[in-house]
Amino acid sequence: MENKIKYFTQTKLIVLTALFLVLFDNYSFFKNTLNIYPLNVENLGFLISLSIVLTALTSFVLILLSSKYTIKPILILVLIVSSLTNYFMNSYNVVIDDDMIRNMMQTDMHESLDLLTIKQALYLLFLGVFPSIVIYKIKIEDRGLKKELISKVIFAILALALIGGSIFTFSKHYTSFFREHKPLRYSTNPTYWIYSIGNYIAKTANSGPIVVKPIGLDAKIKDDLNTTKRKLVIMVVGEAARADHFSLNGYERETNPLLQKQNIINLSNVTSCGTSTAESVPCMFSMYNRGDYSYKKGITTQNVLDVLSHTNKISILWRDNNSDSKGVALRVPYVDYKTSKSNTICIEGECRDIGMLVDLDKYIKEQNGKDILIVLHQMGNHGPAYYKRYTKDFEKFKPVCKTNQLEHCTQKEIANAYDNAILYTDNFLSKSIDFLKSYNKDYKTALIYMADHGESLGEDGVYLHGLPYFMAPQAQTHIGALIWIGEGMKEDINMNKLEKNKDKDYSQDNLFHTLIGIFDVKTKVYDKKMDILSDDK
Ligand SMILES: [Zn+2]
Repeated sequence: MENKIKYFTQTKLIVLTALFLVLFDNYSFFKNTLNIYPLNVENLGFLISLSIVLTALTSFVLILLSSKYTIKPILILVLIVSSLTNYFMNSYNVVIDDDMIRNMMQTDMHESLDLLTIKQALYLLFLGVFPSIVIYKIKIEDRGLKKELISKVIFAILALALIGGSIFTFSKHYTSFFREHKPLRYSTNPTYWIYSIGNYIAKTANSGPIVVKPIGLDAKIKDDLNTTKRKLVIMVVGEAARADHFSLNGYERETNPLLQKQNIINLSNVTSCGTSTAESVPCMFSMYNRGDYSYKKGITTQNVLDVLSHTNKISILWRDNNSDSKGVALRVPYVDYKTSKSNTICIEGECRDIGMLVDLDKYIKEQNGKDILIVLHQMGNHGPAYYKRYTKDFEKFKPVCKTNQLEHCTQKEIANAYDNAILYTDNFLSKSIDFLKSYNKDYKTALIYMADHGESLGEDGVYLHGLPYFMAPQAQTHIGALIWIGEGMKEDINMNKLEKNKDKDYSQDNLFHTLIGIFDVKTKVYDKKMDILSDDK
């Protein structure tokens, strides 16, 4: 028996694995490449060389990561992750970059289960598990450390020479490939996700404990003594709500029937800071604008909630029915509403956004007449299982896509489920406004709603969200946003100006200053020009 067992050298196993990955896990890459460089006589040589470069590059990366003891676990891990990456890229046209990895790391099991499908399991089995079993069974030849090292160095040099030679031979093609068609390399598998993990670690890793830089320590409420009524503001952070599916923005379907009847000011041109929750939520509460913002700056600098806290006169509460606050509410009272322990409205298998409104009366009473900011972080239109985001009575648009495998539904069925979820948010926001109205006698009230990012619903084969900002379609960056101002609050705001400016280009950058402005807080970090509610425009 022993004689029949084949012994592989490390390099041979790596080349074979790389070849397997290039042939079976790079469908998206070759599909996108062929769109730009169609298969013809002129491109044929380049396309073949591209396959060679990808195999050589993958082998090169794997050889750097592998040693006698790590080779099998590493190859198995790469095969498993690549099979799933392949599935997500083929099905939803997503890009696995460092932001996407951050989003995955911060996503809890509940959201991940939404994404588990039969097709995904088949990818995992045939492209991940089966080849992994083969690798597990293969015996690796032990050639000794010195010989192995020499062989690896030679192999690495050969791989680099092959890459260099190919690029040199087809330099004209490669120049356009690298310069003009940058997004193509985002779909190489596994090289791009390995690079992205490195990038994620580099951006996230800290040399020491996180020190949070305080900002707005000078924050004080202006004319504190003159006002009789205190302020009560609800800030709703929406989830994956694209602006063009709001009838308030001219969508042909009636998705905002209740808000339409409320006296709201719809902000029709608001863009997001990022295309994912992990990126947008901390960015919208930070003092940094989209261009200056980075994950590291976000977690190491206090945000607008801290600035408001520094006044010692504003009570802040964050209720979360999404994943979490993405670090924004670390220093203010926070309650998780995705569990039936706190959320009393968990029906049809899901805790509902509306549950976040329960018991707020008790909270408001306890604040003894202080100003109050309540942040409600919605589950909203979290995909791909849009059909789970609303209760039966909101199933107005039919038939709906009732699976998390969006590729099995028509675009219409997906949009139907998505629009029903918008309808549910319409109800939630309208109820929130009604709740505030009941406080108009004792408080100056207002509600601000802003979604974190938009969502693709299959246009050009793109689904969900999270594409790198520069290549993201408008569907992912043009977000739903609106403001409602209660009777008492209207005295403090130039309503005509607000109404006049409602179609102006705003972005999540404006939120920081708007929240400071609405509470009449004086601080050096406030920029009046950025405040949507100021009349300084
Ligand atoms: Zn989100």
